[in-house]
Amino acid sequence: MTISTPALDARLLEPLRRAVRGDIVEPGDPRYDEARKVYNAMHDKRPAIVVRAVDAGDAIATVDFARERGLPLAVRGGGHSVPGYGTCDDGVVLDLARLRGVRVDPDGRTARVGGGCTWADVDHATHAFGLATTGGIVSTTGVGGLTTGGGMGHLARRCGLACDNLASVDLVTADGSFVVCTEELHPDLLWAVRGGGGNFGVVTSFAFRLHPVADVLGGPTFYPLDGEVMRRYRELIAESDGRLGALFVLGLGPPVPFLPERRHGRPLCGVVLCWSGPEEEDDRVRARLAGLGPVLGQYVERMPYPLVNTFFDELLPAGLCHYWKGTFSRDLPDGAIDAYVEYAAATPSVESATVIFPVDGACHRVGPRDTAFSYRDARFSTALSPTLATREGCEAHKDWVRAFHRALEPYSAGGGYVNFMDGDDQDRVRANYRGNHARLVELKRRYDPGNLFRLNHNIAP
Ligand code: FAD
Repeated sequence: MTISTPALDARLLEPLRRAVRGDIVEPGDPRYDEARKVYNAMHDKRPAIVVRAVDAGDAIATVDFARERGLPLAVRGGGHSVPGYGTCDDGVVLDLARLRGVRVDPDGRTARVGGGCTWADVDHATHAFGLATTGGIVSTTGVGGLTTGGGMGHLARRCGLACDNLASVDLVTADGSFVVCTEELHPDLLWAVRGGGGNFGVVTSFAFRLHPVADVLGGPTFYPLDGEVMRRYRELIAESDGRLGALFVLGLGPPVPFLPERRHGRPLCGVVLCWSGPEEEDDRVRARLAGLGPVLGQYVERMPYPLVNTFFDELLPAGLCHYWKGTFSRDLPDGAIDAYVEYAAATPSVESATVIFPVDGACHRVGPRDTAFSYRDARFSTALSPTLATREGCEAHKDWVRAFHRALEPYSAGGGYVNFMDGDDQDRVRANYRGNHARLVELKRRYDPGNLFRLNHNIAP
């Protein structure tokens, strides 16, 4: 069945057409179905127009157009938002995917990154100079949403969150102003976009600080699904320094050649390593991994850092159906470990991996009030998700993830990471920002009193 979306009156669109250099895609255009698609196939929205911006000028014109016409506005970076905030029905989608340039200053160790870049763009460009910054563990994820929400990844323990490495942003605010935000110029807005999501405007360009990280010892090691492995992982994190990136994963064995076939699709757990310390210490790190439990399969090698951020890419292509929950915890007590093991045994699909990000080390060197991201005492941030090929399949497993989330609640630090939350978690936004929520509301009132930027984990003015 074809659903028709009413096109905007051509006369209404005329001024926008004159102002924008990029494409404007409307219903009826052969490119429309592709242009309205987002990563999570749970969302099948039909915007009135998709503006494929090519520069900040296009972003300003689109923001003005949506505000003046009172239309819903969805800002899309990489399109990976699990609640589908990069699209909307009957409104305007500002698609930044063509703002894609990365310019590295190797002497200053910074990178200028277009607002629509993916982490693959950033990793590729910075690696050429032996430099890197914390980004997402799936290379197709957008820099825009990930960074403005906080940004966790393999380098977080060493280099901090993605938002901690932000030196400045170019921001288009709700009134269409173009604001360069640094520690000196508009520091309140820079503070707000370091964790406050897309609530304060459209970031057309990010400036990141970079770190000397070139090759790493990286890759996954799989173990039987056993609480003892997780307890030893807990010790590993407590005893190691920030150079050791080590995600803990629980779920079903992926169909990879280094895991025996009989383990494919069976419950297991694992560690995805990213050791960015010296090569001379690789054997010691390997020995620590071997000590966590009986190894079922392993692919751990010296490799370029960007490669570590692609391990999940093939497992998680666009077009699957996702429903997520997130939780922060200060520790992994035995009760939490029991819950993880119990619920992971019922993981509904190989793609539904539960991923625990350690967020101590450099993430704790930033104070809870220094950025909008406030959970500086959390040591672990978990993403829970049923991920399936069909919408019905995913719906059927929502109860599993809700029960899993509830079982972890007694061990949780309160809120969860906004970027691991789904659309039905809006009532948790205050808890996610804790002591920073009041200041965020105040800034929202100043910079976006009409809540133009509301398709996000919304800080209501
Ligand atoms: P979009 O859907 O484009 O946008 C998400 C939100 O951010 C929207 O509200 C949008 O308006 C806003 N936004 C996007 N770009 C801009 C911009 N330039 N200016 C202003 N607002 C903007 N998170 C992690 O921290 N670490 C991970 O390793 C990680 N891995 C992930 C892997 C997968 C497969 C997925 C689906 C998600 C992952 N996430 C991770 C969560 C991720 O951070 C969020 O989904 C994030 O919102 C994605 O950003 P995006 O730009 O791709 O999304």
